[in-house]
Amino acid sequence: MDVCENRRIYFKDDQIQVITRAVETAEEVVGNDYKLSASQWSQLNYDVKTAIDLSPPEIVNDHFAQIVRYAAKKKDALLDTSIRDFYKICLQDHSIVATLDQHADMALYPFLMYIMCHELIHIVRFRRFLQKFDAPLHEKMAEEMRVHEKTHEILSRIGIDGLKPVLGFFADWRCPPDELRVGEKN
Ligand SMILES: [Zn+2]
Repeated sequence: MDVCENRRIYFKDDQIQVITRAVETAEEVVGNDYKLSASQWSQLNYDVKTAIDLSPPEIVNDHFAQIVRYAAKKKDALLDTSIRDFYKICLQDHSIVATLDQHADMALYPFLMYIMCHELIHIVRFRRFLQKFDAPLHEKMAEEMRVHEKTHEILSRIGIDGLKPVLGFFADWRCPPDELRVGEKN
């Protein structure tokens, strides 16, 4: 499927409601785990968008989400020097819908909870300088494993309905890769 075709696949209204709930809960759960205050959370400076609000370069194949970093405008940087840039979490409707179609045991809510917790952990770690956004590939691979491990840990602790098949689906990504994977999942 090429990217042009993917632009025609959007979440439906009832799916958007489930996703909104998953995003809010994931923010709460990750915020609590890292003990972030409301103001620390707002300084993460990110937004979450689905395909309807993405530009063509923000839509990719083989990922459930990607984080795109945008430089802060100069005037914004003067207002608050701690906010240097802005992260856009781009949910990939087509990949998520296709995977759920292929895995009848997985439901949208727990799947989105995993994806959102994962992306938010990435952003917290970028903001805390635990990981560079533009690290070399081998560092990104190691980081990917750490973030999957942390996602697994956080979600296992809170326990939500339908989580088990989702954790099973992502289990391979918590193991050291034998070789560089093509189409690493975010
Ligand atoms: Zn990732």
